[in-house]
Amino acid sequence: MIRFLSNFFNLIYPNACYSCNELLIEGEETICTKCLISLPETKDSFSADTHLFTRFNAIYPCSIVSSFLYLSKNGKVENMMYELKYKGKYELGVSLGLLFGKALMTSPLFDPKRYEWIIPIPIHKKRLKQRGYNQSTAIAEGLSKATGIETNETICERVYATKTQTSKNKFSRFFTMESAFEVSKPQLISKGSGVLIVDDIITTGATIDSLCEKIYKLNKVSHFGILSLARKQ
Ligand SMILES: [Zn+2]
Repeated sequence: MIRFLSNFFNLIYPNACYSCNELLIEGEETICTKCLISLPETKDSFSADTHLFTRFNAIYPCSIVSSFLYLSKNGKVENMMYELKYKGKYELGVSLGLLFGKALMTSPLFDPKRYEWIIPIPIHKKRLKQRGYNQSTAIAEGLSKATGIETNETICERVYATKTQTSKNKFSRFFTMESAFEVSKPQLISKGSGVLIVDDIITTGATIDSLCEKIYKLNKVSHFGILSLARKQ
């Protein structure tokens, strides 16, 4: 009966694939099978020899640095990232996070027991109010489901709302990033633990640096995992 009702509901309000907009059939959720099998996976999770791994690991110890998908201009991934961030498609973030987490679990570089928390990059309270959710929390939720590592949104907070970074000069961008985050509950991080930092897209990595530096300064975390849903090729 529930299935009948849900099919009936789908007839009136059909769900479309978040990636290609084709109607979803029974058993498909948020993304259709055709799009799922053609997702442009980076396979970053299987290598400690990538540009981004080297980049982050030079500043603080990292055990894994991985972006799940390649982002290409006007491509499907870019479209999905936009829907997730600006169009209220929270569930899309959870779905993609779950897929990412399942892929991570098959990597020899990833051991979920080595991480105490998943920390989504916080957004400012004001922005949270406007948007209603943090897109990185959606991804973290999916990752938690797949890995069993708990997500915690309260350890860190964004104290400064960064606006369009591109319109600022180098110095003010640096300044903004420096003061963007605060660790409001350091007591929740155990000595010698690992934390997974989650963002939607890695571009320069400056945002992640700013948060990781704040956490690393506490002298508690022994290693980081840096995860994002997408990056450029
Ligand atoms: Zn599709």
